[in-house]
Amino acid sequence: MSKIFIDPGHGGHDPGAVGKRSKEKDNVLKVANRLKVLLESHGHIVRLSRSTDVFLSLSERARIANAWGADYFISLHDNSATATATGFETFIHSGPVQSKTAGFQNAIHAAIIKEIGIRDRGKKRANFAVLRETRMPAVLIEYAFISNVNDESILINEVEKLARLTANGIVNYAGSNKPVTSNPVLPKGDEEQLNLTKSEREELAKIFKHAREKEIFSSGEHEKSIINGTMTLSRLQYLQTIIAGAGINNGKRIK
Ligand SMILES: [Zn+2]
Repeated sequence: MSKIFIDPGHGGHDPGAVGKRSKEKDNVLKVANRLKVLLESHGHIVRLSRSTDVFLSLSERARIANAWGADYFISLHDNSATATATGFETFIHSGPVQSKTAGFQNAIHAAIIKEIGIRDRGKKRANFAVLRETRMPAVLIEYAFISNVNDESILINEVEKLARLTANGIVNYAGSNKPVTSNPVLPKGDEEQLNLTKSEREELAKIFKHAREKEIFSSGEHEKSIINGTMTLSRLQYLQTIIAGAGINNGKRIK
């Protein structure tokens, strides 16, 4: 599996672009933290340039990724211009790049534009420092325009979706140690049945429903198997780890 370096842009004293309701540095950090969990669930080794609100220079970001020996580098940003500017775009370096770099951009771009719901501004090239100074295939994503009210609502409210689409693109290119599916692959082993009362099962199912609405799971099968009692303990614990990682229910466990 691959070593994937995720670089949420800006941070600390540098907010990046600022919208009416959010700052770029916060929006991209949320996506990065979720993206890390999703890529790890596919067996990749993931490192973030920052996992908190701190500042790093552009060269530092590239240097850390190079020193770590990342196989892939991905930088996350929100765009900004006028109130009517809208859409999604990706960048690779404008100088000579490895052929893998274009393939990596193609895969990520295709996966995100398929579902992001705003216009495709295209696959672009630019002389950005993080793209120029990194030695591995590197892509910079501009998800949407924080300066546009509609685009900003995607950046604020669809963190899980942005992370999922980005992970899909990366996994389509870099591979996965599990079949590509929108639902997690469950571990085998402990098949102990859950011993819960009806009201405990209903409360638990509610949390899973909430997770589904947040697009952490794509189907209602988990809720169903909790209610009808076929959910096993090991399976529940595994799924709860994913839910907690997404910050649903404050990571609180019923069992
Ligand atoms: Zn930026």
